[in-house]
Amino acid sequence: MPDPISLVGRLYERLPAAGYPVRLVPFPYRIGGTYRRFCQLLRMTEKWAPEKLAAYQDELLATALDRALLQVPHYARRYGRLRGKTARSILKEIEPVEKATIQAQPDDFIDPTVSSAEWYEASTGGTSGVPLRILLDRRGFQIEWAFMVSQWSRVGFKPGMRRATFRGKNFGRGQLWRSNPVYDEILFSPFAMSEANLPSYIEKIRSYGPDFLYGYPSALTILARFIQGNPGMRPPFLRGLLCGSENLYPGQRELLESTFKARLFSWYGMSEKVILAGECEHSSSYHAFPQYGVTEIQGPSGNVSDSPGATGELVGTGFWNSVMPFIRYKTGDSGTMAGSACAKCGRSYPIIEDVRGRWQQEMLIGRSGASISLTALNMHGPEFLGLERFQLHQRERGRVIVRVVPGVSFDEARAARLLEALRRKTAQDVDWVLERTSSIALSPRGKSVFLVQELGNSFDEVEAAQVGAKR
Ligand SMILES: [Zn+2]
Repeated sequence: MPDPISLVGRLYERLPAAGYPVRLVPFPYRIGGTYRRFCQLLRMTEKWAPEKLAAYQDELLATALDRALLQVPHYARRYGRLRGKTARSILKEIEPVEKATIQAQPDDFIDPTVSSAEWYEASTGGTSGVPLRILLDRRGFQIEWAFMVSQWSRVGFKPGMRRATFRGKNFGRGQLWRSNPVYDEILFSPFAMSEANLPSYIEKIRSYGPDFLYGYPSALTILARFIQGNPGMRPPFLRGLLCGSENLYPGQRELLESTFKARLFSWYGMSEKVILAGECEHSSSYHAFPQYGVTEIQGPSGNVSDSPGATGELVGTGFWNSVMPFIRYKTGDSGTMAGSACAKCGRSYPIIEDVRGRWQQEMLIGRSGASISLTALNMHGPEFLGLERFQLHQRERGRVIVRVVPGVSFDEARAARLLEALRRKTAQDVDWVLERTSSIALSPRGKSVFLVQELGNSFDEVEAAQVGAKR
C-alpha cells in the first residue's frame, strides 16, 4: 500500500501551483487513517488508571516480543525457547543490545517476512559516531505523528496550526526557506543563519505568522540572541516553542522563553523509536509514553530496572516498528527514573529526568586532569550575546580554543567579558583562547556541534580523567 503522506508530498512537489488546495484538506486526512486511529487511541488511554494502562502496555509488549522471537534471527536464536511465557518475564531475560552489535550484523535484526514495500530506510543522526542504518515501518510515520501531536497538544498545539521549522534542511543555492503546506510549516535552513541573513529570517517568520517555532534549540537560540542583541528587533508573537533532537543546556530555556515570551516545550526521542518522552502542561520533566514502548534504565552494575530511583543508561523497547524491532536497545543516553506517574497532570507515565545525550556527556579536560562538563559551563548566559555561532576545540589538556563567528555587536569589550566568564568558571584549570572565524560547520543534519575534542588518544584520556574525578 503506498504511503499516503509521501503520496501527497510527491503530488505537491510535482504541482507546486497546487499548494493552496492542500491546506483545504484537514490535516488528519492529509496524513492518513493510521494517524487518526492512533490519535483516538492516545486520547482514550492517556488518563487511564495505572493498572489499566500497565495491562494495555503488557499486551503491546507481548505482541512485539511474540513476533520478534518467532521471526527476527537475533531474538529467535537466543530467546525463541521463551515463547509462551509472560511478556514481562521474557523481557527480563533479554540482554540489552548496543548500536555497535546491530551495526555489525544488521540483517540479524530484520524480520525477513516483511516485504520491502512496507518499509523505508533511515539512519540515526548524532553529532559524532557512525550512523546506524535502520529500516522503519511505513505506517510508523503516521503513528509517530499521532504521538507528537498528542504531546504538543499539552501546550496548545492543534493540527493545522502553523510552524516555523528549523531542522536539518539544507536547500543549497543560498535558499533560506521553503514552504511545506502538507505539514503547515515553512522550513528554514539552519545552515544559513548568518547575521546578514537573520533580518530576512525574522521578517519572513513575522509575515508567515506561525503559531509555534519548532526545531533544534541551537538554531532557535541563534534567533533569540540576535533579537536580544538588536533592541529594535521585535520578536514574533507565538503560542510556544517546540524543541527536540538536541538537549537543552541550563540557561537556554530561560533565554528562549524570555526572548519569545512563550512556553518552551521539549521532548526526548530518537530515530530508533524506542522511547518518546515529553513535558506536560505543568512540568518540564519527561513523561515517557507507555503506549510507545517500555522505558528502562541500566545501572552501572548492569542491572536493568524501571523502578523509581534507577539511574544510568536509558534502554528502550519500541512497539511499532515490526520490520526491525529494537528490544532493550541501549540508547547511549543517560537519565534517572524519577517516578511512575506525574501528580500534576495525572498521567501514569514513567517520569524521566536529567536526560543527557552522549554528546552532552562530553567533557573538557582541565590541566589537573579534572573533567568539566559543557553543561556546567552554561554557554547560554548573557556573555554569549553578540555571537552568531561558537564552538569549543580542545587539542591539549588545560587549553581550550573558543572559535567564534562574531556578529556586528561583538566588540573587544564583549570578547573580554566572554573570556572572563569562562575563566571564572574553570578557575586556574583551563587557559581559554578566543579565535575569530567566518564560519563553523554544522552536523550533516544542521545540528550545532559545540565541542570538537581532539585530545591525543582522547577517549582513553577522557575515561581516565573521569574515573580519576569520581574517586
Ligand atoms: Zn505531568
